Amino acid sequence: MSNSFTPEQLIRSEILSLSAYHVPPATGMIKLDAMENPYPLPLQLRKDIAGLAENASINRYPDASASALKQILRRNLGISDEMAILLGNGSDEIIQMIAMAVAKPGAVLMSVEPAFVMFRMIATFASIQYVGVPLKKDFNLDLEAMLTAIEKHQPAVIFLAYPNNPTGNLFDADAILQILAASSGIVVIDEAYHAFADTSMIHQLDRFANVLLMRTLSKVGLAGLRLGLLIGRTQWLQHFEKIRLPYNIGTMTQLIAESVLHHTDILSQQAEAIKVERTKVSNYLSALEGTEVFPSSANFILFRIKNADKVFQSLKQRCILIKNLNGTHPSLENCLRVTVGTPEENTQFCKALHTIISEIA
Ligand SMILES: *Cc1c(COP(=O)(O)O)cnc(C)c1O
Repeated sequence: MSNSFTPEQLIRSEILSLSAYHVPPATGMIKLDAMENPYPLPLQLRKDIAGLAENASINRYPDASASALKQILRRNLGISDEMAILLGNGSDEIIQMIAMAVAKPGAVLMSVEPAFVMFRMIATFASIQYVGVPLKKDFNLDLEAMLTAIEKHQPAVIFLAYPNNPTGNLFDADAILQILAASSGIVVIDEAYHAFADTSMIHQLDRFANVLLMRTLSKVGLAGLRLGLLIGRTQWLQHFEKIRLPYNIGTMTQLIAESVLHHTDILSQQAEAIKVERTKVSNYLSALEGTEVFPSSANFILFRIKNADKVFQSLKQRCILIKNLNGTHPSLENCLRVTVGTPEENTQFCKALHTIISEIA
């Protein structure tokens, strides 16, 4: 066995130099770091779900096409019959399917910076070149830079999150339309935070053959289920379907999602409560001395604060976990991102932050 390879010899260098997506431990913490919905489902619905588990045929493989689930998603989201649906184990898996499908030698996957980190990471996994076009200082699209980069790199696929993560803002709709018009490749509009925004790009599916729209149930209260979906024309989705691993959506995910999707009023009410709290927290943060708060159409708020590292650590010591973005990108210097929680959690966060600021000053 002396001639066996070491991992360093066998594993691709770009994988060796990656650091794994870090999920910090959060037991006993007020968890405001991952854009989860803080509200549980109502008791009766949870009991219904328990009944589903009791009767599920988990000795059998799941419905490979998840047809019942797709049907209710189609109805709930108002997806027209001309459009196909692809399901993923979270939308992360859909990003991966698309990247793998277009990863020809020399192909480019494009996004903006700062954006959702998985766009870049998955490009690396799939061996496709990544190009990130910097946003403007206010985190809006730099349309000129985008159009120049599209012309230069001819990206096979562009990912744009609408609203964007980690910045929380909606890009200018006109700028997006110009990008759609200028792109000869695929453009994926990632609407993970759709429930918290008052707008959508879904109607662009009819106008542009190469536009695909991605949604997820993760941010509306079902992060543990892992269900994302891609909406677009069959001419594209039929090929991504071939890359989708059989049975990627488990039996319990299908059953629970179907059951909860019969009660979307509950999810919408929770999203509305989160939007009300978002305004409160945002106003509170803006009134603090020395903070800069960025406008959010999502369920989290990005803000800049002096000594962000220290503030982050002090919050953590008080068992409040948010996301420290300082050092992740030059334009995010001293930036922190807080997910909107329940009124009680938000009050605790605001109080703790206030105390910490007066202690540091
Ligand atoms: C959270 C998030 C996702 C991932 O969602 P999953 O469906 O949980 O994989 C996708 N895109 C953006 C922009 C996100 O912030």
